[in-house]
Amino acid sequence: MVRVIGITGGIGSGKTTVCKWFEDRSAPVYNADVQAKWLMNHDLNLRSKLITHFGSDIYENNTLNTAKLASIVFQDSNQLATLNKLVHPVVFEHFESWKQQYKHLPFVLKEAALMYETESYLQTDAIVVIYAPMKVRLERACKRDKTEPETILARMQKQLPEDHKLHKADYVIYNDSIHELVPQLEGLEKWIYKQC
Ligand code: ATP
Repeated sequence: MVRVIGITGGIGSGKTTVCKWFEDRSAPVYNADVQAKWLMNHDLNLRSKLITHFGSDIYENNTLNTAKLASIVFQDSNQLATLNKLVHPVVFEHFESWKQQYKHLPFVLKEAALMYETESYLQTDAIVVIYAPMKVRLERACKRDKTEPETILARMQKQLPEDHKLHKADYVIYNDSIHELVPQLEGLEKWIYKQC
């Protein structure tokens, strides 16, 4: 049975960077955040539930207006909880069927920013936390998204503090610009193969 290695960490910690390294070495990667957006646009049942709850304005020209939806849910934790309740079970199901095509492989990676905040972790066999201090993550995310620190900080506040994630991790990668990344990833790859 294919093992599922969860990859998580705060905004700008380097999850996608780490997953890209594995993808370049032919490991399949499921990015839960990207897939959630895809499903919000393409799963008709989910779309209709989102429209019922948040209003038809969240779609513009038939495409999800993520800024509009974010402006609703990031101001109101009840709305955010409802969004998660609607979207995450659909992502959960979608991941289950996605991984079937890789049954013959030793492992796949599942990248999710909200691994512990949702029940995403239940679909993993081990979890790797990518860690970087907040200041480093803030600088990276602002540069990447060409946005103001306040916007990133508001999103960070919706995530579990990093020390909670570190406590629950099976393996930690320090992507803090002090420790070299590639040797750590080579070590992680060996560790993953030992788990399989
Ligand atoms: P998010 O949760 O916001 O999607 P993420 O955890 O996936 O973020 P990445 O997108 O991988 O993080 O990295 C954030 C930014 O920091 C990217 O522009 C990436 O190129 C850069 N970055 C990641 N790791 C490093 C590093 N070790 N040195 C320099 N830049 C880095």
